Amino acid sequence: MGGMIYFYTLKSADLNISSKLPDVGTTIFTVMSALANEYNAVNLGQGFPDYPMNQELLAKVNEAMLDGYNQYAPMQGYLPLREVLAEKVQYLYGGNINPDTQITITPGGTYAIYTALTAILRPGDEVIIFEPAYDSYVPNVIINGAIPVLIDLRLPGYNIDWEEVRRKITPRTKMIMLNTPHNPTGMVLSPDDIRQLRSVTQNTGIFILSDEVYEHLIFDDIQHESILRHPDLLERSFVTFSFGKLYHCTGWKLGYCISSAPLMKEFRKVHQFNCFSCHTPSQVALANFLRNKDSYLRLSAFMQEKRDYFSMLMKATRFTALPSHGSYFQCYQYPRISNETDAVFTVRITKEHGVAAVPVSAFYQSGYDSKVIRFCFAKKKETLEAAVEKLMKV
Ligand code: PMP
Ligand code: GLN
Repeated sequence: MGGMIYFYTLKSADLNISSKLPDVGTTIFTVMSALANEYNAVNLGQGFPDYPMNQELLAKVNEAMLDGYNQYAPMQGYLPLREVLAEKVQYLYGGNINPDTQITITPGGTYAIYTALTAILRPGDEVIIFEPAYDSYVPNVIINGAIPVLIDLRLPGYNIDWEEVRRKITPRTKMIMLNTPHNPTGMVLSPDDIRQLRSVTQNTGIFILSDEVYEHLIFDDIQHESILRHPDLLERSFVTFSFGKLYHCTGWKLGYCISSAPLMKEFRKVHQFNCFSCHTPSQVALANFLRNKDSYLRLSAFMQEKRDYFSMLMKATRFTALPSHGSYFQCYQYPRISNETDAVFTVRITKEHGVAAVPVSAFYQSGYDSKVIRFCFAKKKETLEAAVEKLMKV
């Protein structure tokens, strides 16, 4: 009988699984990238760069490995990296952050968000989320037994209606989730949004999760309205970041969270029993790399050039641009092309025209179809040119 392999397949009914996320399927990014591969389409769907990352940073990781930085980093993260991040916050936002007690390095931004929510939320708590929303937010709330309270951003600018926020706040409101620059729309928060945020949260027990993974990918000389500029707001906030997104190495899955010391204490209680610590050589490399301020000060101009190039090329198509002030993304409408839902339209252009995008309905729990699709412009010039040449025929 040697060499024989038995496969025993249990039916899911036998397992008596009561799903904690019954309404969740496979993420749109996975679905669209698979479709792009299947149809050999240019992939402007999932947000990842296709150009090489910074070679100096790459060399520094290699160096760190050869230098023997191959064992566990501290649970909080490699201290010199936390120190250089604290210096960066001081330099950019004037904030005084204690690297010992207020920063934790995480395996990516998504993980940082999940950890923050898990540290704070209890069943029945309400969390205000603006839609369209990055797709992990709602499931992260639900898996903690909390209740997402959804508010639509207002077109055409995808702005927050703060009066609606006031109406939706209840004694059970535990958190407000923000994302600036915003995925999928490229909207950025304004100083007035921060004033409104302060006015709705002060003297309440409401916490803030500010997802700032596109911190340095903000265009047209607009100032990034980071929560880190506001010590009073930081007291009640978790602010999350992603090195992967910033340094064009999304596969590294490395990021960090900054918060007040009491909140970070709770964050670390969850983190230490989940992943404990992150990839050491990348942290050592980033600590050295970030000492040079150009490593972050030059990112916006680099990405803005891509947005400008893509939107210039897209003028030759029948798509209608919505503004993008930051992130990897620009959204487009298509009234001159089709009346199809954004989901049907996106699949069709992938299959028939060879360009993948992401339907913005995927960022609404209701699947609300505003007939808007998202393109990722964090790509090589040639990729953008190849995509737009195809889109001109749509
Ligand atoms: N938040 C937003 C808004 C994002 O677009 C992403 C995308 N990557 C993340 C968080 C997560 O970043 P990471 O890949 O570092 O987990
Ligand atoms: N943040 C990326 C996007 O919006 C993808 C992240 C992922 O694939 N989970 O496309």
